[in-house]
Amino acid sequence: METRRSIGIMGGTFDPIHYGHLLTAECAADQYNLDEVIFVPSGNPPHKTEQKITVAQKRYVMSLLATIENPKFDVSRIEIDREGLSYTIDTIKTFKDLYPQTKIYFITGADAILEIFTWKNPDKLLKEADFIAASRPGYSLAKIEKEFYEEYRNRIHILKIPGLAISSTNIRKRIKEKRPIKYQLPEKVESYIRKYGLYK
Ligand code: NAP
Repeated sequence: METRRSIGIMGGTFDPIHYGHLLTAECAADQYNLDEVIFVPSGNPPHKTEQKITVAQKRYVMSLLATIENPKFDVSRIEIDREGLSYTIDTIKTFKDLYPQTKIYFITGADAILEIFTWKNPDKLLKEADFIAASRPGYSLAKIEKEFYEEYRNRIHILKIPGLAISSTNIRKRIKEKRPIKYQLPEKVESYIRKYGLYK
């Protein structure tokens, strides 16, 4: 009997993408038997309209450079090319149409998942897909594990990632302070950041 395909939709701002994200995708693929992980850089994040983020095309190229060597990884322009604000419910619906009969996991940071009830159509969202919440070392999972997680125990899965101590915010800060970022992200991504003078 043929087993049903499973894919991971790896959502994030990826400003910039780093080894923590890549390790998260790899661990999720291993633990949940995913056939493919598709990185989806946020196009126009509804929760970051006040915040300055790098232009979507550059975040997309960095995601491509970072994932190019892994045959299981792919990058989608779905949110970048869609007009208006990028809602996860729309992204999941599009992937469900593109990949019928496929189990879909949406992978993102645990802190982002904690805010899921502020997202568009949260109840629908939790019916449409399973969620993998990647957590950083030292991050308190109490809230996710007790109140919230219990109600959606079958839908939200916590994945502890040691390498997620690396953070995009910290990488941007280090660049501003002219400190090294080597070994935190793929060399090709660092070269791209230097070439275009990002985060200075
Ligand atoms: P964020 O505030 O940039 O990230 C929240 C935390 O999660 C950060 O610590 C971040 O670490 C981490 N993180 C983000 N993506 C990750 C990933 N794929 N794997 C592991 N850790 C990750 O949140 P965001 O990236 O903008 O949003 C995450 C996802 O939720 C996006 O796909 C976004 O579209 C979706 N979202 C949807 C709605 C909505 O539909 N209304 C609202 C909010 C978010 P780094 O800084 O190191 O990446």
